[in-house]
Amino acid sequence: MITTELSNIGLIIQNQREFFQTGKTKDVNFRIEQLKTLKQAIIEHEQSIVEALQGDLHKPELETYLTEIGVIKDIDYAIKHLKIWSKPKKAAVSFDFFSYSARIYPEPLGVVLIIGPWNYPFQLIISPLIGAIAAGNCAIIKPSEIASHTSGIIAKIVAKHFDPAYIAVVEGGVEASEKLLAEKFDHIFFTGGTAVGKIIMAAAAKYLTPVTLELGGKSPCIVDNDINLEHTVRRITWGKFINAGQTCIAPDYLLVDKKIKKDLIDGLEKCLKEFYGDNPANSPDYARIISQKHFDRLVNFLKDGKVLIGGKTQPSERYIAPTVIDNVSLEDSVMQEEIFGPILPIIEYTDIAEAIALINSKPKPLALYLFSQNKNLQKRVLQETSSGGVCINDTVMQVGVSSLPFGGVGDSGIGNYHGKASFDTFSHDKSVLKNSFWLDLKWRYAPYEGKLPLIKKLLG
Ligand code: NAD
Repeated sequence: MITTELSNIGLIIQNQREFFQTGKTKDVNFRIEQLKTLKQAIIEHEQSIVEALQGDLHKPELETYLTEIGVIKDIDYAIKHLKIWSKPKKAAVSFDFFSYSARIYPEPLGVVLIIGPWNYPFQLIISPLIGAIAAGNCAIIKPSEIASHTSGIIAKIVAKHFDPAYIAVVEGGVEASEKLLAEKFDHIFFTGGTAVGKIIMAAAAKYLTPVTLELGGKSPCIVDNDINLEHTVRRITWGKFINAGQTCIAPDYLLVDKKIKKDLIDGLEKCLKEFYGDNPANSPDYARIISQKHFDRLVNFLKDGKVLIGGKTQPSERYIAPTVIDNVSLEDSVMQEEIFGPILPIIEYTDIAEAIALINSKPKPLALYLFSQNKNLQKRVLQETSSGGVCINDTVMQVGVSSLPFGGVGDSGIGNYHGKASFDTFSHDKSVLKNSFWLDLKWRYAPYEGKLPLIKKLLG
C-alpha cells in the first residue's frame, strides 16, 4: 500500500478535516488548479494506465483511451463551467417579501468518501473525484481491489500529485471498506453492485451521511422492426461486448419483435465476425473476464437456453466468446441476475405490450434501450417504463454526454452525477435570505389583536 496503512484511516480523516477548515478548498481558483493538476497527472501516466488496464482486464488500448483516460474531457468540462456553477444564484421572492433578497450559495460538504468498482476501475474513481474537487471537498478514495493494477496506479498518481490531507487513497478490499465505513464522512459516493450498495447505505445511516449509489441491474434493449438493421446490430454489438460485457449500462438482454428476430441474429453474427474475426480469442480488441470467480459465475449462465452464436470458453485466460443465446426462460439464472459479461439472451415478443410488461415486472434498470424509428412507440416506451436513463437507437453513448445526469432509480441507484450534476452531488445548496433595515412592518409581531384580517387577506 502506497498511501496508507488501514490503522491510519482515522488520522487521514482528521488531517483532511483540519485542511478543510483552513478554507483553502473554498477558493474556486484553488479548485481549478487542482483539476488542472489531476489532468496533467493523468496525461503524464497515460502509458502506465494503459498497462494497468491491460493487466486487469486485457483491455484494448483504444477502449482504455475511450472509456478510462477519456475522463480528462470531464475535467475540461468542469474547469470551463466551474466559475458559473459555484456563483451564488439569485432566487425569486414574492411581493410580500419585497424588502428581502434571496440567494442560493453552493458550498462544499467537507470530507467525502468515494468507493469504486473494478469494471471501469480508473474512470469510475476519477469521474466522481472531479465532482468532489470541483465542489471544494477533500476526498478519500478506495478503488476496487479486484482491479489491483489500476488500484495501484491510482494510488501512485494521487500520492505523487496531491497532499493526503486533501486527497488520499486507501487501497484494499472489504476490510478497508469496512474500516472506512466505520468513520463519519460528509458524503459517500459508491459505485458497485446493489447488494453492497445496501451495506453502504446501512453504514451511512449511522451518521446520517448522505449517499450517492451508482448501482447496476438488468438493462433491457428493445428492438422493434422499424429500424436500420445494419446500424442497430453494430450499435448493440459494440455496447454489449465492449469490455467483454462488463459494463453497468451494457444491454443485458434483447427484447426483439418476432418479425425481425432472424434478421437481427444473422446481423449480430456477421457483425461479431467483422469486429473480432473468426476466433475472438485471437482478437487484440476483445477483453477478458476480471477474475476466476466472475468467470465461473458467467460460465454457469451458458447452461441456460440455447447457444446461437459463440459459447466457447478458455478458463486459463478467463476468455468467454461473445455469445448470443435463445430460448431462455425468465426463471433461468441468466434472466434473474445482472449478467455483466459477454452473454446476450434474446427474448422475442409479438406485441410491444409484452416487452413493456416484462420490463415493468423487474426492478427499475439503470439503462433502457429502444431501437425504433416509430415516434409513437418511442413515446409509449418512455411513458410506460421507468429507468435511470434511456438511449434511443444507440447503446452506452448516453454516458458520454456531460449535460445529462447519470444515475439509477429504485434498485439501480440513488442520486446522479456527470457535468453539473457532479458539482451538485458534492455541494450543499445553502439558502440565504437577507432583509434590510429601511422598513419594519409590524403585521407579524405581537400583540396580534386586530391583525388577523390582514393575515387572512395575505393568505387569500
Ligand atoms: P461490488 O459492489 O462488489 O464492489 C464495489 C466496491 O465495494 C469495491 O471497492 C469493493 O471493495 C467494495 N465492497 C465489496 N464488498 C463490500 C462490503 N461487504 N462492504 C463494503 N464494501 C464492499 O461491485 P463490483 O463487482 O466491483 O462492480 C460490479 C457492479 O457495479 C455491477 O452490479 C455493476 O452494474 C455496478 N456498476 C455500476 C455502475 C454505475 O455507474 N451505476 C458502474 C459500474 C459498475
